Amino acid sequence: MTVTPYLDRVESELKELADMVDADQPGWTRQAMTETDLAGRQWALKRMREVGLDAHIDEAGNVIGVLKGRRGGRQLMTGSHTDTVEAGGRFDGMIGVVGALEAVRLLKETGQQLDHDLVVVDFFNEEPNRFGLSCVGSRAMTGTLNPQAFGVTDETGTSFAQSLQIAGIEAEAMHRSRWDFSRTDAFVELHIEQGPRLEEMGTEIGMVTSITGVSRFRALFTGRRDHAGTTGMEARVDAGCAAAGTVLAVERIAEQGNSELPGSKGTSGGVRFTPEAINVVTELAEIRGEFRSPQGSWLREAEEQLSSAAAQEAARRGVDVEVAWLPTQDPRPMNDQVVAHCRDAVDQLGLSRAELFSGAEHDAAVIADHVPTAMLFVPSHKGRSHCPEEWTDLGDIQKGIAALTESLIRLDRVGS
Ligand SMILES: [Zn+2]
Repeated sequence: MTVTPYLDRVESELKELADMVDADQPGWTRQAMTETDLAGRQWALKRMREVGLDAHIDEAGNVIGVLKGRRGGRQLMTGSHTDTVEAGGRFDGMIGVVGALEAVRLLKETGQQLDHDLVVVDFFNEEPNRFGLSCVGSRAMTGTLNPQAFGVTDETGTSFAQSLQIAGIEAEAMHRSRWDFSRTDAFVELHIEQGPRLEEMGTEIGMVTSITGVSRFRALFTGRRDHAGTTGMEARVDAGCAAAGTVLAVERIAEQGNSELPGSKGTSGGVRFTPEAINVVTELAEIRGEFRSPQGSWLREAEEQLSSAAAQEAARRGVDVEVAWLPTQDPRPMNDQVVAHCRDAVDQLGLSRAELFSGAEHDAAVIADHVPTAMLFVPSHKGRSHCPEEWTDLGDIQKGIAALTESLIRLDRVGS
């Protein structure tokens, strides 16, 4: 018996989330550690309870609901996130949570009780926050959140630990959210592709083979503040120019890497000059950037190259530089067996499929270190994501939810 997700239920739940956003921001914004994020996770808690899950919010802000299995003890896990980037879209993360809710309803309505407990998770703070940290909830659940992260401050001097309080989370208590993954047989995350390949190929489901590695940095250049009109070019200690040279080095390193190994990328996503004055030589410049690659060894090389490029750009101007590397996420291959069961489910439903590498990071990459994991992608219109134009047709989401549900049913049979 195959299942057919109900579009009206999925649509109305996606709309409810889309209405729960920061009115001051363009697009659909529900950034972690804001009132709207809190509202989004409360919504997830309420919905989980409505569909009959035994649900709570853990010490790390993850919303976790359990559907009791016939035998229990062993678990299957699914879910994604409800936080967004600034000015983001309505689908990234959300379809994995709404899809899981619909999967639970379908299992119940079709009388298909699993042997496994089914654990549904809305992971806290998947998107990179202003402290440069991402997948915070899944890292806490897996016990891999570095306690040093709590002391990191933003531009106003507020620490990550302080900001967590807005989300109703006590930093010291987060370690208690650690999950016993020894009971978990598989994790499957449904997500939008966030790239153009499925749409270009006219393919319905993407079977993720591996998830990109990510390495992030903050570089702080310290020069000297001087009058822009009276200080000779040769006499300047311009932190802004050293930073600008480093931004170009990020691009150069990534382009070289990509020519050898497609999928390597480099981005300077934030640059700040102090003072921000048109007639003052820049004293302080900060860059926040990242590299991504399917290969961990290339990330190590890129880190070294960037650190030395920043040192060179600084040294030739008499500027001091500190480059701090944030915790690196290594590339994560998905589990062959779990992927094979998902593939069988997709075939049984008569859906077309293609293998894809994920250039975006996901909670699944964190969980994959602890549990056999797979990801299912559905097409993103024109590949757009992390922007208000992000779009996936409801019909494609419906197919994705059917694939997720059928995958869980298959994994339940083999894993018990
Ligand atoms: Zn996402």
